[in-house]
Amino acid sequence: MAIRRIAVEEAFVTPEIMAQWHVVLAGRDVEPGFAKMGESILAQTPANKPLDDRLLDIGAGRIAHMDAVGVDVHLLSLTSPGVQVFDAPLAMRLAAESNDALAAAVKAHPTRFAGLAAIAPQDPAGAAREIERAAQKLGLSGVIINSHTMGEYLDAPKYRPIFEAAQSQDMPIYLHPREPAPSMVTPYLDYGLYFAGWGFAAETGLHAMRLIMSGTFDRFPRLRIVLGHMGEGLPFWLQRIDNRYLLEVKIGAVDKLPKLPSQYFLDNFVITTAGVTSMPALRLCLDVLGVERILFAADFPYEDDAEAVRFMDDAQVTEDERRQIYETNARRVFKLKV
Ligand code: CA
Repeated sequence: MAIRRIAVEEAFVTPEIMAQWHVVLAGRDVEPGFAKMGESILAQTPANKPLDDRLLDIGAGRIAHMDAVGVDVHLLSLTSPGVQVFDAPLAMRLAAESNDALAAAVKAHPTRFAGLAAIAPQDPAGAAREIERAAQKLGLSGVIINSHTMGEYLDAPKYRPIFEAAQSQDMPIYLHPREPAPSMVTPYLDYGLYFAGWGFAAETGLHAMRLIMSGTFDRFPRLRIVLGHMGEGLPFWLQRIDNRYLLEVKIGAVDKLPKLPSQYFLDNFVITTAGVTSMPALRLCLDVLGVERILFAADFPYEDDAEAVRFMDDAQVTEDERRQIYETNARRVFKLKV
């Protein structure tokens, strides 16, 4: 049977969320990283118009594009930073409305779309309820969180209801990038370093490491995290992370965890190819993680998805590995019925 190409980090936005970002951006005390986003990729300019049009389309136009590039399924998610820059009540409302719109699109095109639920970490109890609603009532396949929320990371104890709900509902959390948090963004503001070429991975890799080192996966051993962009660089570092962690334990600088950091990565994480079309990077991830932990993603509409398909079609892997990366792993991780 032909391989079905399932792409798992494919972005959309609703008109109201896009409009509300610009309300925040026009206000006072805007997070410096988000302000930079407002001047670049989120700016309402003629150059960004085609991108915005693609983000807003979760219907026929998107499917026609998928057909043109040969992508069978989009696992859709609300684009970064989603609702995480709004006050809690607005964020809760817009997350729910966005999830309703997403569920309707999935219902209208069940063979082409699946979706990840947006939540508002600003209200952990409400976010937990939204995860339950997304799983039980909306038929969504996981959760998207765009790294920090108002400069805070999910290892903080107040966010545990989110992990409790994700684990009990068996919903993987896609920990998606955004620009670095206000506490670390300053040196990233020059030279475009806050953006997806480096700052996004530094921010999101840090977030993943905070989850590992804080013992989150001892508290929630069945919690599953998805990282895009070949694991935000972490597969490259795992050996050194273990090595220096063991030194820190030895000298009493950190508490010993039940497992090595790399073992949590293997047990609780999977990664996606989103935005990376480098055979050496894929080869390293295959060697370090194993093919069963690698899923295909194109990062539409921010990346050239035709190029992503060409890369994966031609990648120097076996046909069985290609099928796992394109299709089988996504079906297993997100329990897709498409
Ligand atoms: Ca993305």
